Amino acid sequence: MNIMQDKTLNTTSIEALGEFGLIDHLTNGIKIKNNSTIYGVGDDAAVLKGGNKHILLSTDMLVEGIHFDLAYVPLKHLGYKSIAVNISDICAMNGSPKQVTFSIAVSSRFSVEALEELYLGVKLACDKYNIDLVGGDTTSSTSGLVISVSILGEVDKKKITYRKGAKINDLVVCTGDLGAAYLGLQILNRENKIFKENPNVQPDLTGHDYILQRQLRPDPPVKYLEILNKMSIVPTSMIDISDGLSSEVLHLSKSSLCGITIHENKIPIDYTVMNLSQEFKLNPIVCALSGGEDYELLFTVNQKHYEKLKKDPDFTIIGFVNDKSEGNNLVTNDGGVHKLTAQGWNSMSKKK
Ligand code: ADP
Ligand code: MG
Repeated sequence: MNIMQDKTLNTTSIEALGEFGLIDHLTNGIKIKNNSTIYGVGDDAAVLKGGNKHILLSTDMLVEGIHFDLAYVPLKHLGYKSIAVNISDICAMNGSPKQVTFSIAVSSRFSVEALEELYLGVKLACDKYNIDLVGGDTTSSTSGLVISVSILGEVDKKKITYRKGAKINDLVVCTGDLGAAYLGLQILNRENKIFKENPNVQPDLTGHDYILQRQLRPDPPVKYLEILNKMSIVPTSMIDISDGLSSEVLHLSKSSLCGITIHENKIPIDYTVMNLSQEFKLNPIVCALSGGEDYELLFTVNQKHYEKLKKDPDFTIIGFVNDKSEGNNLVTNDGGVHKLTAQGWNSMSKKK
């Protein structure tokens, strides 16, 4: 009898550990054997020796029914997004993406034409970001579509930015604006539900271009690295915002052995997100903290860069690094101080 069949065993549910707890648990005790491996598990990408530069390696999987629903996600956008989310992890190390491998598991439900659509998006993203598609794997699946992408990038040794490295009193900065991708998903879910109940009603997606683009066809944060480079700024720590701002704040502070305090009134939210969140009875700040999939960057920098960053609307200073003993906090508009948790500081449905 194997471990999957033996009912007498006392087993632990995956939910009991959570995603990050599970990764820690499974990778516990792994020791690096090759001196060409500079950094293994625990950041946005692994770091490998590569001559003059460091090589970056990252991998991400997208699973139908978990990460996307083909009822409302066009295959071309899905192909584009699957490359974009991988580029984002290379950006999080301050690196440039160079090569990808693209692997799929498909069922007979997919036609050649459908997969061509998927590849149109893949090729579009690879062309836009000057990346070579150098391989992959193709296999069958009994149910949904599974996409797995691995990406290689490179980074100057002097510019590599880990999750660790934040220093007390550093500024905490994020790029772009947050919460839009989550709201995009809410619109798609709503229109899909209406369509399922009454197929004669056409989805009404007008006026939501920005929010839908942020969900369906996100662009990775490449341009921000170029701006930082021009300003001669190398962050002390960095991560991409894929799971929501609070989760990423906790990752940075955990890796950097510090605490981080952010201010509600500083979190950048687009006006379209402000307006639409009311319609969904969602607090826009909670969308930013817990929504995820924004693919912006969260980083820390020395305070000497304050003036330069303050002038540039691409960046928003949202807080500062404090001692570990002070923990991770959100200062709300009423002056209250709340401990940040991975789920955000409140439930997703809190109405303001
Ligand atoms: P991201 O959200 O940036 O893609 P993850 O949270 O998926 O990062 O992963 C965090 C770290 O854990 C990375 O270093 C990743 O390579 C590693 N990791 C994730 N899943 C596994 C696994 N099943 N086995 C080994 N390492 C893993
Ligand atoms: Mg990441």
